[in-house]
Amino acid sequence: MADSPRRIAVLGSTGSIGRQTLDVVRAFPGAFRVVALAARGNVALLAEQAREFAPELVACTSEDAEVRRQLDALLPRAMRGPDGLMAAATHADVEMVVAATSGLVGVEPTLAAIRAGKTIALANKETLVMAGHLVMPEARRHGVEILPVDSEHSALWQCLRGERHAEVRKLIITASGGPFRGMSREQMREVTVEQALHHPTWNMGPKVTIDSATLMNKGLEVIEAHWLFAMPYEQIEVVVQPQSIVHSMVEYVDDSIKMQASLPSMHLPIQDALSYPARLDRAGTPLARELRWHEVARLEFAAVDRERFPCLDLAYAAGRRGGTAPAVLVGADETAVALFLAGKIRLPEIAELIGAALERHTVIAEPSLADVQAASQWAQDEVARLAGERPPESHAKG
Ligand code: MG
Repeated sequence: MADSPRRIAVLGSTGSIGRQTLDVVRAFPGAFRVVALAARGNVALLAEQAREFAPELVACTSEDAEVRRQLDALLPRAMRGPDGLMAAATHADVEMVVAATSGLVGVEPTLAAIRAGKTIALANKETLVMAGHLVMPEARRHGVEILPVDSEHSALWQCLRGERHAEVRKLIITASGGPFRGMSREQMREVTVEQALHHPTWNMGPKVTIDSATLMNKGLEVIEAHWLFAMPYEQIEVVVQPQSIVHSMVEYVDDSIKMQASLPSMHLPIQDALSYPARLDRAGTPLARELRWHEVARLEFAAVDRERFPCLDLAYAAGRRGGTAPAVLVGADETAVALFLAGKIRLPEIAELIGAALERHTVIAEPSLADVQAASQWAQDEVARLAGERPPESHAKG
């Protein structure tokens, strides 16, 4: 890497990806400089991060009265309110923005960062799933690179480096298959929230864990890959790789397949984006996780059972329809997962509700960001309404 440290802003610094981004910064003293930190409501952690990394700008976006009191006590100089994300994303000293907020709140700051010429390390799914048609052309216009932070997209990106786009036959995204891979339809209907929250290989928040269990997470990754790598849906495939060692693959026209492998850890994709195009030596750092082939007993691959995991095809269908359809997919999923976590619906009903919302939605082509937001909100309301309407007996539907 260059001699001077890379200057970064972390949007969503107290979330899972934000904290792991700071682990990477900590592991490579001198390689990075944290210029701006922005988070929502975890003031105690944000204050700790501010003490350790001494950024020029600290922003806390929550407008909650209690959060403001904490800020007065712990971070009196922090910027307050939603403008903080924008200020962090466009700070003059920032070269790279790590976009790790959750939900749509990150889209506008990401667009602003692109217009300001910042490189984007993108961890926020909604940005490309819902607004890929706005974000990617803007990035091209400003000559800005969008670097993926998700493990699958990082793997695809690493496999694609130095290759020609026209020679790619397909992108093959791997899925762990989640905790219900071997279950029958009947068993899946009886799955409890506790079972669903236990993921075999990745430790994540409840929403992403349920999305992994239903394969909706994989569906969203397919849509993201479509935008990131300008690849038609016909050329994007999903395959189950239960060990989560192979993070994705690229097949070329000569039948050659490149795959990226490593022990499952989000630190690596984060590090790879942060240091790009360099690779930083992790030996001797707390992040070192060398893969020993003799300890990996086997690598298995299997097709996805698309009947038992209908969320994947719902995502493909929404991606192909385009416009506001992916926003409806995301909004409907958000409410359906919340209903499942609250014990109000069964696991297979998540897909049923999303499918119903997509069917009822009139797609807007080339939507504005406001259209996207409205469609997502409509889907959230629609799913709540549909679930409320549903008499308990309809659970028995075959
Ligand atoms: Mg992933």
